[in-house]
Amino acid sequence: MTVLTSGSKGNATVIASAETRVLVDAGLSCRELMKRMAMVKEDPSALDAILITHEHQDHVAGLSVLARRLRIPVYFSEPTHRAWVRMMTPSTTMTYAKWLEHVQREKEARAAQDALETAEARLLTDLESSGAKPCDASGPIQIAAVSAEAEEEDAPETVSRRDPASLPAVEYFQPGTNFSIGDLMITPFTTPHDAADPCGFVFESASESIRMAIATDLGYMPPNVKRALERIDVLLLESNHDLEMLKDGPYPWAVKQRVLSRVGHLSNHATAEFLARDYDGSAAYIVLGHLSETNNVPELALLSAEEAIRERGRLLGNRIMLAQQSAPIAPICL
Ligand SMILES: [Zn+2]
Ligand SMILES: [Zn+2]
Repeated sequence: MTVLTSGSKGNATVIASAETRVLVDAGLSCRELMKRMAMVKEDPSALDAILITHEHQDHVAGLSVLARRLRIPVYFSEPTHRAWVRMMTPSTTMTYAKWLEHVQREKEARAAQDALETAEARLLTDLESSGAKPCDASGPIQIAAVSAEAEEEDAPETVSRRDPASLPAVEYFQPGTNFSIGDLMITPFTTPHDAADPCGFVFESASESIRMAIATDLGYMPPNVKRALERIDVLLLESNHDLEMLKDGPYPWAVKQRVLSRVGHLSNHATAEFLARDYDGSAAYIVLGHLSETNNVPELALLSAEEAIRERGRLLGNRIMLAQQSAPIAPICL
């Protein structure tokens, strides 16, 4: 697990097994995400997919540009994808069904274009082998024109100008139902948060029997999340705010209410309560994440979690770390 960034201003984490690498959330610009991957020697072109927990800006800011740049599929739940598309194209009058149709048509057009290019390439080879100069005939001149157009089609700026929600491929999952990417088995679980269909993920590598989990953006710890977080070796867990700092802090009252609500974020206190009472103690590493820069202090979050663990003597082997907003943390390898 490599946390590239974590906090209210952006979230992105690389999870990798022996054969598969996925990026969970893309909450910084594409350029910044690339920069952070370079800092921890993660090769972006080795990523197999991007998984999205929910459509809030701090989880999707760089999504479309990054996915198009890397040409990799994006996994969403359907309601999250729908909400994201709506967010990306706020002025559209298209219904979701119409939009899906439009995407299908684009896909068919691309396939037709690919077939045409293959045929043209073959024709060109035939012409060359027959000794004809490509520029002599009317056919090859047409080829040049079509190729130039095809190149323009591939340029990310052109695609985004046409449809900002266009992605190389979209795959749907359903929270509660597991699915696989390469040798990674992934179980999304529903989280209580004010988004269309928010979730966390448990990752299990078949070959190494190691389990990692990401559980951030949740208003409280419901039973299904507690169950999902059993037998986890590396756990990225939210510790968003200090209750006193939030109450006394600068946020408007309505925003304070939202953060504190059952569809908001986990406080240091709630996280400590989970660690002290319900957590099974199986993680070698607990990474505290999604810290608020305004309403939390890293030392407070760490102290609160450490105190909760200290009360349970047998958990002293658990290492608690802090994820950061401003820089990636060193990869955690098991
Ligand atoms: Zn959120
Ligand atoms: Zn968030």
